Amino acid sequence: MDKHLPAGAKAPAVPRSPLSPPRVTDYDNGISAIDADYLRPGLAAIHLIVEGGKAALVDTGTSSSVAGVMEVLRIKDLDAGDVAYVFVTHIHLDHAGGAGEFMHRFPHAKLVVHPRGARHMADPARLVASATTVYGEAEFKRMYGVIRPVEANRIIEAPDGFNLDFNGRPLLFLDTPGHARHHYCIFDRQSQSFFTGDTFGLSYREFDVEGMEFVFPTTTPVQFDPAAAHTSLDRIMSYDPAYAFLTHYGRISHLPHHAVEMHDLIDAHVAIARRLRNVPERHTALTEELGELLLQRIIAHGCKLTQEEIRNLLSLDVGLNAQGLEHWLDQASEGR
Ligand SMILES: [Zn+2]
Repeated sequence: MDKHLPAGAKAPAVPRSPLSPPRVTDYDNGISAIDADYLRPGLAAIHLIVEGGKAALVDTGTSSSVAGVMEVLRIKDLDAGDVAYVFVTHIHLDHAGGAGEFMHRFPHAKLVVHPRGARHMADPARLVASATTVYGEAEFKRMYGVIRPVEANRIIEAPDGFNLDFNGRPLLFLDTPGHARHHYCIFDRQSQSFFTGDTFGLSYREFDVEGMEFVFPTTTPVQFDPAAAHTSLDRIMSYDPAYAFLTHYGRISHLPHHAVEMHDLIDAHVAIARRLRNVPERHTALTEELGELLLQRIIAHGCKLTQEEIRNLLSLDVGLNAQGLEHWLDQASEGR
């Protein structure tokens, strides 16, 4: 048993390793990344922003992630009543699966969600049904537990350009489709940072080489839109941010470099998908080629992990990226 695991927190299926980021990473400007304990250490973060004794959380992990968040609040001399906002960058369940439970535990919080996601937070039946089709009922329960609805009067919709005053700290919400059409990113002027959910891709700390990160896109089903993904990246970069906080995982810098790489890797994913559109065993072929593309890029980046370690860290995302690209290919007139 991990001695750092707070009481009541569910242990992730994979134990922490020396390569995993710590359970809590504190940055400046009152920002921390808390491990959501989702599937493996260092996979999904919940970001905490503290401003003048009030707290806001960016993404929620799943219902069982709340125990770890409560423990971190206690350490920071905050209690459940101090949580003013729960922000969900989009409503995929690794980001918003815990929203109902979080709102139940944090009685003064408002939930801020993209207008396209709001009704699914108030009535999660469709979210639950579609995830249950993918995973089956038992696996769904194991991964996500029970998904509570959120009272409609506690939900704030954040359309493009929405400004929110978080205890005197201005936050700007931008509509950022590409990964999902119900996705926003948050610009925090105080830290000159964006909270990007999945719009700026994924970057696991295990792939860091002397402080330089490796970032790659997520093309998961069912709303991947490469043109929108490019536009959203450019829109984020137009604010000249110093940092991005990624749900998967934590803070990255060197954003101009990563933006170029992201544009290139989105195009590379799309090119592979188009080329393999009509091959037999398409899913297997796509998974192999996407895995090889990222493996070679990570080796070129200077990563010293073994190929097996790299492949293990990538396998979940490569499978999901292949599925999302297939869905994109199969939509009428898409991907031609
Ligand atoms: Zn995600």
